[in-house]
Amino acid sequence: MKYIYGPVSSWRLGVSLGIDLLSQAEKICNFDCSYCQVGRAQAVSIDRRVYVPTQEIIKELKELPDVEIDYLTFSGRGEPGMAKNLGETIEAVRTLMLKPVAVLTNATLLDRDDVAEELALADVVVAKLDAWSQQSLLMINNPAAGISFDGIYQGIKRFRQKYHGQLSIQMMFVPENKEFAEEMAELVFEINPDEVQINTPLRTCGVSPLSQEEIFRIKGYFQGLKTISTYDVKQGKDEPINVEDTAKRRGKTDT
Ligand code: SF4
Repeated sequence: MKYIYGPVSSWRLGVSLGIDLLSQAEKICNFDCSYCQVGRAQAVSIDRRVYVPTQEIIKELKELPDVEIDYLTFSGRGEPGMAKNLGETIEAVRTLMLKPVAVLTNATLLDRDDVAEELALADVVVAKLDAWSQQSLLMINNPAAGISFDGIYQGIKRFRQKYHGQLSIQMMFVPENKEFAEEMAELVFEINPDEVQINTPLRTCGVSPLSQEEIFRIKGYFQGLKTISTYDVKQGKDEPINVEDTAKRRGKTDT
């Protein structure tokens, strides 16, 4: 398997089979988050293109042994929205597997109509929001040139208005943003997502995770919205088909 990984036990999506439409040696991402566990690499600002043809994904899925899964999840080594065949592949895998499809995105491309339309084909979209201003975006997510906090935030709000599936906002809390949780919650109330996922980097990276007490204090600012935190769920055991390839992507805190 070159492009499919897992299944992994996800604290948000149950048993999830990962699909990596980028599948390059280096991550392909227009962010370089301080806590990224795929590995740190300069954020790239390149136009969308096909990295892995849709037929190759379908071929691997057809060769898959019998596995019980809850979701097919587009994630992996970078931002799935940078793959030009994201929408086409979402439709193809759902038809083949008859399973709900989730996409984990850093939301940087949601202000583009083509990307928003393709993401809207998924049953669940999990959009990242770790910042509350341009300065904090630069500090935490290290975006490629031209990416603005306002573009991301307005893109998510606009997507919320049109999207009929489940929109979850994923927020990674780290020492740099923990004192701004109230401001961040106000932004999220305006989006009015179906769910807020409150995370902290528990897997090894260069950033220390927040304690359970700190995360539960932060959760308090989101009262009135459906929330789930990484400390609420007991992590299940991963039983991937391909251990090494899964580890390359599973390092990512997003999955
Ligand atoms: S955590 Fe996700 S969005 Fe952030 S740099 Fe890594 S792959 Fe990109």
